[in-house]
Amino acid sequence: MHMTNQLILSNLQHASKDPSQALFLPPSFGPSQISSEPHRLLLAPCQVSHCRELSSESNTKNTRPPTSIPPIMTTPNTPTGPDLHPDPGPDPESAFLLSAYTRLRATVTTHTTTHPILPTPQTLTQTLSSLPSAPFDLPPSTPSSTLTHLLESILPSLNQQSTSPYYYGFVTGSCLPIAQAADNLVTALDQNVQVHFPQSSSSSSSSSSGWVHSSATFVESTTLSMLLSLLDLPPSRFPAKTFTTGATGANILGLACGREYLISSRLSSPEKSVAKVGLVKACIAAGVADIKILTSKPHSSLLKAAKILGLGEECVLDVGQDDKPWRIDLDKLEPALKEAEKNSTACIIAISSGEVNTGRFATAIFDMPKIRSLADRYKAWIHVDGAFGIFARALPKTDQFLSLRACVAGMELADSICVDGHKLLNVPYDNGIFFSRHPSTLTQVFSNPGAAYLAPPPSSSAAGSQEDGIFGPLNIGLENSRRFRALPVYAVLKSEGREGMEAMFSRMVFLARKLASFIHNCEHYEMLPETENHVEEDIFMIVLFRARNEALNNVLVNRINQTGKMFVSGTQWQGRKAVRIAVSTWRVEVERDAKYVEGVLREVAESFVEA
Ligand SMILES: *Cc1c(COP(=O)(O)O)cnc(C)c1O
Repeated sequence: MHMTNQLILSNLQHASKDPSQALFLPPSFGPSQISSEPHRLLLAPCQVSHCRELSSESNTKNTRPPTSIPPIMTTPNTPTGPDLHPDPGPDPESAFLLSAYTRLRATVTTHTTTHPILPTPQTLTQTLSSLPSAPFDLPPSTPSSTLTHLLESILPSLNQQSTSPYYYGFVTGSCLPIAQAADNLVTALDQNVQVHFPQSSSSSSSSSSGWVHSSATFVESTTLSMLLSLLDLPPSRFPAKTFTTGATGANILGLACGREYLISSRLSSPEKSVAKVGLVKACIAAGVADIKILTSKPHSSLLKAAKILGLGEECVLDVGQDDKPWRIDLDKLEPALKEAEKNSTACIIAISSGEVNTGRFATAIFDMPKIRSLADRYKAWIHVDGAFGIFARALPKTDQFLSLRACVAGMELADSICVDGHKLLNVPYDNGIFFSRHPSTLTQVFSNPGAAYLAPPPSSSAAGSQEDGIFGPLNIGLENSRRFRALPVYAVLKSEGREGMEAMFSRMVFLARKLASFIHNCEHYEMLPETENHVEEDIFMIVLFRARNEALNNVLVNRINQTGKMFVSGTQWQGRKAVRIAVSTWRVEVERDAKYVEGVLREVAESFVEA
């Protein structure tokens, strides 16, 4: 634990340089200590529909319109001068939002300190009885009374998955204060990150305006490169990169690209690709009879992606090791590829880099180069589902993390990688990331054909810009219109830096390891999988365990959650009930939380009386 202290210390030093860093690390830092001051001006979502009512509510005399209309777009040279900056006095919209956000923060703070992690059935009943009911006449109410309804009737029955350090369910992540602030800015200016207008085309003589549309696509591109760098993946190797709604979205992109690539590479004419003629005709033209996904313990969203993409969930073939089912078995992989080739079957190899039950990894140090050469030989696509596990690559390069880093070595050899933002990165939902080495495959599948009004300027290609390497987001992802998902990630990386991120991930790992070691040595519980010898160095941020007493084990999840002190998810392991603790919040304080969780687990076991 010496290392923990060192990391905390180095972060405190880091923090002293920049006051905003104080929000991140100091021990005994609780939600109530977050000053609302820095966030005051960054406002929460609000639809202003009653302007007249607002101006009277806001009790302000300064409601005169600006003397001149500010520009909609920004000039290439930042404009200055009084005309473009009318007096920003408290106009009705700002006055409402300011007071709304002040109220919101105060209510959240009180809620966090007075409510249990999950809402009680009574609070849920109260919320449900406050909702409009049939026949839904939709009578209007003022923004202010609507806000009161949200804060007093709805908020109390929401859970503390983000605000409590003791919510260990699923893999959820929390939300760093700077990410929240950034997300409020995203909402305040509500940019639609859709079309990319490169800088040169905007300022070229052929451009009518000489204006830049928005910096959002540039910021997204930079953010994705920063993230690649954090993950120790060479940005030049992953020219195709975009934000998705989450890891499910990124898995859909990965399998869609894999499917397209497998079939296109077996076609004599690209005119017959899946994107052009559809899956059935393309498969016939390519002589492909079937597509299989070879994997070990995949996340359920991978099966969902297979269903959506017309591959079918039964296309998934398990090539996991018998004693470590989360690990890819190379002795099964090669025969499976060979057999597939014989049957005119094309294959996607899906690497579960972070298995969601055990937190273990599909590969070890020398596996990826071998899998890559097999993929090349059999023309397979490698997709990595690294939703949370890929962040093991961002751990400090110290001995404590050597074996974890070995599990995520070689990921740069993949054709596509799925990453979650709203889990370990601690940015708000919805946030996922997709990286690929094959931009032309991505645009082949996702380019938005036709609509002239969405076309980028003439100087750039249809897919986006080849000049600056930035693709139009609508041509490389599911959505046409979407929010500026990059900004919270940008803010987190900018504010924490590599050092802050390393420290945050380290704290998650150290807490998980402390809990694993407690459970391993506790007479009431046992670590899973039982086939492992539970070396501390192998633990990432998920702890899977069960009670030794079968009767207690059957009710364990409920007993823990009924304490109201912490929340865990139940699961099954080898046909028996099991409990998972997933540590993925920035709020972790290793010593404090280890003591707390150990106390709860002891209390639950010691107070259990068999019926
Ligand atoms: C959570 C998770 C997913 C699905 O992610 P969403 O963000 O919930 O869509 C996919 N794969 C793994 C390994 C996960 O942990």
